[in-house]
Amino acid sequence: MTESAGKKALVLFSGGQDSTVCLAWALARFAEVETVGFDYGQSHAIELACRDKVRAGLAALDPVWAARLGADHMIGLPELGRISETALTRDVAIEMGENGLPTTFVPGRNLIFFTYAAALGYRRGAHVLVGGMCETDYSGYPDCRADTIKALEAAISLGMAKPFTLETPLMWIDKAATWALAAELGGKALVDLIVEETHSCYRGDRTHRYDWGYGCGACPACELRARGHAAYVAGA
Ligand code: ZN
Repeated sequence: MTESAGKKALVLFSGGQDSTVCLAWALARFAEVETVGFDYGQSHAIELACRDKVRAGLAALDPVWAARLGADHMIGLPELGRISETALTRDVAIEMGENGLPTTFVPGRNLIFFTYAAALGYRRGAHVLVGGMCETDYSGYPDCRADTIKALEAAISLGMAKPFTLETPLMWIDKAATWALAAELGGKALVDLIVEETHSCYRGDRTHRYDWGYGCGACPACELRARGHAAYVAGA
């Protein structure tokens, strides 16, 4: 029995590769695990459509995980899409912006996600929040940095007068190691589930199938996923 076995976790779950590995990671550790997704008008909303299949797939992998997997929550944040000028929510090219950040950057997104998750977790008795933020081969998003998450953890704990823990199991590993972590947590069956049912492509393309899954094959999210998978296969 691990230290965290009695705790309840809430996983920020989009239906993408990273958050699916985070969900498996949480299911392996916590007695109760709930999920929350955010709809902010992202053009790759197909990711959200994958969520139910992935949750069902994870439950089918392991009876212990099935027993631990609890409610799913969906939070609509249309205002975030409305106020953001980004390639994920507008018809803007995916490229490097003048600020040195990709146009896929949605300012403040992870700050908002975690704050909403904390408000939900407060009500649900889930004080461990899990997210797939990663500083290792990220796109330079400042709200994915460990320092940002640490500061947010302190702000949320203070602001809610309740100690919250923000867990980011992918923070210091690259995409190849994320595939390897999936294999470690759930074997080939979990790797296969991620390939078949998760979605990461910014363009929402599910018409092209590669050995690493579905996507356009050309956007930054597809490139990152494909490169990580190739490195994982080469090293496995
Ligand atoms: Zn793509």
